[in-house]
Amino acid sequence: MTGLGWHQFKPRLAYSLGWRKVDLIEKGISGPPSNICSKCVNIKPELKLSDRIYYCNTHSPPLDRDLHGTMNISNTGLINVGRPLPN
Ligand SMILES: [Zn+2]
Repeated sequence: MTGLGWHQFKPRLAYSLGWRKVDLIEKGISGPPSNICSKCVNIKPELKLSDRIYYCNTHSPPLDRDLHGTMNISNTGLINVGRPLPN
């Protein structure tokens, strides 16, 4: 899909996933923030944008903040379509 503009990317991706029987789940502009632990849903309101590692107060190990954010988005999508969360 190299060379496609964003307006062409989404329809092509949906078409390609449709052939593979895979659902395309869209995420809106807003979503779960990355200051929520993706494992136990612990919230750290004091987390600054400059804090790149998330140290959860209730479990370990520490994870990259962007990875938590990505997992939160994925979990929200799975919940929205009624699928179980990964362990
Ligand atoms: Zn946690």
